[in-house]
Amino acid sequence: MTNRERIDRLEREKQLAKEDWVQLLSTFTAEDREYAAEKARKISTGIFGKDIYFRGIVEFTNICKNDCYYCGIRRSNEAVSRYRLTLEDILECCQEGYESGYRTFVLQGGEDGWFTDERMEEIIRAIKERFSDCVVTLSIGERSRESYQRLYDAGARRYLLRHETASPVHYAKLHPAVQTLANRMRCLNDLREIGYQVGCGCMVGSPYQTADDLAEDMLFMGEFRPHMIGIGPFIPHSQTPFRDFTAGSVETTLMMLSLCRIMIPEVLLPATTALGTVRGDGRQEGVLAGCNVIMPNLSPLSVREKYMLYDNKVGTTDSAADGMARLAAQMEEIGYRMVSGRGDSPRMSK
Ligand code: SAH
Repeated sequence: MTNRERIDRLEREKQLAKEDWVQLLSTFTAEDREYAAEKARKISTGIFGKDIYFRGIVEFTNICKNDCYYCGIRRSNEAVSRYRLTLEDILECCQEGYESGYRTFVLQGGEDGWFTDERMEEIIRAIKERFSDCVVTLSIGERSRESYQRLYDAGARRYLLRHETASPVHYAKLHPAVQTLANRMRCLNDLREIGYQVGCGCMVGSPYQTADDLAEDMLFMGEFRPHMIGIGPFIPHSQTPFRDFTAGSVETTLMMLSLCRIMIPEVLLPATTALGTVRGDGRQEGVLAGCNVIMPNLSPLSVREKYMLYDNKVGTTDSAADGMARLAAQMEEIGYRMVSGRGDSPRMSK
């Protein structure tokens, strides 16, 4: 089979055999990538038109008990100055975002034990009370099922938890032994069963990753069928054990994004900040490869430099309004437009 035939088959059957994934992901050419991107773009505009949804990320704590080898805010990085936002800070970020048209707020942070269920419930309820037409999304890592249920009951409706890599062996090379893929998967399944719209995803080009691992990611995502998929290139952070590894390939990231769109047509697919970091026009390229979501930063400018998951992260100096204006211009340049709204998964309205 040629790679074009593999892409055609994926479009028809919505999944490929492992061996075809490995072949496709290890041998695709620039032409194959354009072939996939064109299909992905057509599928995306068929469902979402030229509308790009935006979600505001509030990075409310950079304190983390975990020690992921790739991440700049890992516990062992003693050079980071740590912070927690107060409820008032968080509401202020949301207010600023609300005025710029944001209707989804993503609370993202390290796994910070200070944010107990009680404290998270208070935050979620306060946001829902003040911005009743908005959706609260959480991205706060692994918790118990009971905890996920409580936060859902408090009003959170979406949860982003990248699986990072679907291969247990590769997972063990990116994390200390106490962090397991099995628990990550347990979390994803709990979240889905509770009723959240769930986002999973992986990094492209993380250390020791092979085409076989990427094939496992595609097999897993095709089976799990998340509402959202976050994929970005790995970018080294100078204060982590992976400081000397090179960043993941933009081309492979774009190819993975297009293939996700073809495999799960209605999936919400963000053109990630990491993609915009490795290449200035990365987020435009992402949209042209089939992405339909952008997640700008709404964190207070005073803490942005402290939420460095990787080096040179973009968007650390723009206010909510400036960031939005810049992205809107970038989208217009390629014939798309940022639209205000909750941007629910099309699956939810069916
Ligand atoms: N603590 C939360 C949020 C993690 S940060 C959680 O566990 O889900 C969000 C994502 O940033 C991570 O899931 C990871 O995929 C990505 N990330 C972290 N470090 C990175 C790096 N060095 N390069 C690229 N992406 C990175």
